[in-house]
Amino acid sequence: MLELSTPVQYVKGVGPRIAEILNGKGIHTVGELLLYLPFRYEDRLNPRGIAELRPGEMATVIGEVRNSGLFRTRRMPIFQVTIGQGRAKLRCLWFNATYLQDKFKPGQMIALYGKVEEDPRSRELQIMQPQIEILGDPDEVGEDAIEKKATESLEVGRIVPIYEATGRLTSRWFRKVIRTALDNLTPDLPDAIPAAVRAHLGLISPRAALWNVHWPEPGESLNDLQSSRTAAHIRLIFDELFFVELGLELKRRQQKAQTGIAFRLDDRARAAIKKILPFHPTAAQKKVLKEIAADMEKPYPMRRLLQGDVGSGKTIVSFEAAIIAIENGCQVALMAPTEILAQQHYFSARRILETAGYRIVLLTGSLEADRKREIRRHIAQGNAQLVIGTHALLEEKVEFAKLGLVIVDEQHRFGVMQRLKLMKKGDDAHVGTAASAVPERSKAAATTLVPEPDVLVMTATPIPRTLALTLYGDLDLSVLDELPPGRTPIVTKCVPDDQSPKVWDFVRKQAEAGHQTYVVYPVISENEESELKAAVKMYRELSGKIFADLKVGLLHGRLDPDLKDQVMRMFQKGELQILVATTVIEVGVDVPNATVMVIEHAERFGLAQLHQLRGRIGRGAAKSYCVLMTGGKVTEDGQRRLDAMVRTNDGFQIAELDLELRGPGEFFGTRQAGLPSFRVANIIRDQELLEAAKREAAAVLAEPNSEIAPEEVSRALVQMRARWRHTYGLVEVG
Ligand code: ADP
Ligand code: MG
Repeated sequence: MLELSTPVQYVKGVGPRIAEILNGKGIHTVGELLLYLPFRYEDRLNPRGIAELRPGEMATVIGEVRNSGLFRTRRMPIFQVTIGQGRAKLRCLWFNATYLQDKFKPGQMIALYGKVEEDPRSRELQIMQPQIEILGDPDEVGEDAIEKKATESLEVGRIVPIYEATGRLTSRWFRKVIRTALDNLTPDLPDAIPAAVRAHLGLISPRAALWNVHWPEPGESLNDLQSSRTAAHIRLIFDELFFVELGLELKRRQQKAQTGIAFRLDDRARAAIKKILPFHPTAAQKKVLKEIAADMEKPYPMRRLLQGDVGSGKTIVSFEAAIIAIENGCQVALMAPTEILAQQHYFSARRILETAGYRIVLLTGSLEADRKREIRRHIAQGNAQLVIGTHALLEEKVEFAKLGLVIVDEQHRFGVMQRLKLMKKGDDAHVGTAASAVPERSKAAATTLVPEPDVLVMTATPIPRTLALTLYGDLDLSVLDELPPGRTPIVTKCVPDDQSPKVWDFVRKQAEAGHQTYVVYPVISENEESELKAAVKMYRELSGKIFADLKVGLLHGRLDPDLKDQVMRMFQKGELQILVATTVIEVGVDVPNATVMVIEHAERFGLAQLHQLRGRIGRGAAKSYCVLMTGGKVTEDGQRRLDAMVRTNDGFQIAELDLELRGPGEFFGTRQAGLPSFRVANIIRDQELLEAAKREAAAVLAEPNSEIAPEEVSRALVQMRARWRHTYGLVEVG
């Protein structure tokens, strides 16, 4: 008997060599083989009479072999079989099928499935390359045996599962092997989903689900099958989502059970916040700050995601949170994904917060060793109250005297896995050592003694809510759904790059009106093959010729950090009118006086990236313009991206389309981003089941629990842990 955990090579018909191919596809066990679901189904149900066939239809036919033979044409050998039912005859043809030569004998019964065509010359019906199965010879095995075989056939006379072929492994091969695996599968498959949950959703047993998803019962709706909505599909999809959500839910609960810092939001803190605000906060900013402050007041650590489209004003909200922590005598760490962004936060923090007397330091990887050491000392002694840096902040051995709040900006650039690591390191920084240096046990001991810092992560990637639920299910969610007042919508135009003289004229006019422009290129320097205009080369062209009378700067990732810094500062102060850059300016950069964003080779950029780049402008009161220049051929998808940009400024709409164009895996940058790699679930298609899974997971872990017995809960948790480790490839949960 096969267990779900049995290595796939022990399935009859697999063996070590094929097992290797399957392993390459992520199929290691019988259970994983059985979750290799058909990507579509064919209705080969009702065998048809030859006389009633019509050209163009797919049909199943059972008939008797009349004659067969190979004939050679100039181009290729063709194998032909004629089958008959009484006087009606049907011809079947296979190209290059010499291997079929000795297969057929007159009088044999065969079943076949394929597309009916009309021979253009003879006008007779034929089927090219049908799926076939030999049912047997009535003289040898008897009529009954043939009938039995016909009903048992895997190929015809039923709804047939079609699998994606992989290399030599054809759909037909999968059909046979998966069937064998099912035939030999142990009869008692345990069901780790608690009975109450099964009842809520009307879930069928795992065994029935596995059988029916591959071999649908007669009468199953083809529509439901194709859209993965049969009871079997729902059971398997829910199963997969439920254990992911259960893990996330457990994480949430464990976080809440930890000791955090109960910050006090008293009048002094309120006054301090009021004093620094350079403008009236939007209603959304107020609402979100309230949510954050309520978390911070609680005695367990905050784990909150702040989601807000580019330019919605997340920075100031995070500063407000920082003030609460600082006013409570704690230190705050603010991390940005790039040095440029860290720098910028440092400057605005100084501008906004230093008037209140807070002590702020910047710690980035590129600082000189001496300087770093000194800053680290300030941090360790508690002199520095707000520490701003790149994630080097956590990778280096930074000891905080009393870390109370960690803010991670532009979280999506870090990826979900990295985020989990960051949080972990946040904990470690907190106890005063780098992650690897502390043995597990003492780490645990230390964290129970010292309260956990609050964590606020911020992202501009507007993830549809249900996706946020899966990806950030362990976080609470706040959304900034309003832009600060006085913004005029950005005008976006798409033009071919032979129109560039007009574009440059426009840039000049904007400069004359006192505004600034970004010009962005996809790569740093041109190589021979590539026709892309590189930033460096175009910088020379723009600064030397086209805008010889204007001040033009160049910014790219390979510049020396000091120089980067200097260029950025000059642009910020308005000393440069035009900034030629690569995508280093993609996230976070905030220069409200910049009103034009020219993106060359815009067709090469992803949608999210274009939206982020466009988010650099439209940050002040003046009208802003985004010009998408295209060079050369634009693919169909490329055109859809550009059209979307021209059509809307709404980050949510853009994200939805992006998701549609790229699919969930790509959208989040594959597994690295920590998206669980689902086998049967598709989080776009299965949003409702995802929400149900989340709801049920919360119900299972709720305490007290009158509906679910403790044994059932622990059985579900054991299963969940095993899955998190082996299947989803996610970090382990507690
Ligand atoms: P993001 O959410 O993209 O990080 P920022 O925090 O950089 O956005 O804010 C974008 C711009 O809007 C900044 O110039 C900021 O000073 C300004 N801003 C933020 N909140 C308000 C507000 N309530 N009123 C006016 N301007 C604001
Ligand atoms: Mg920002």
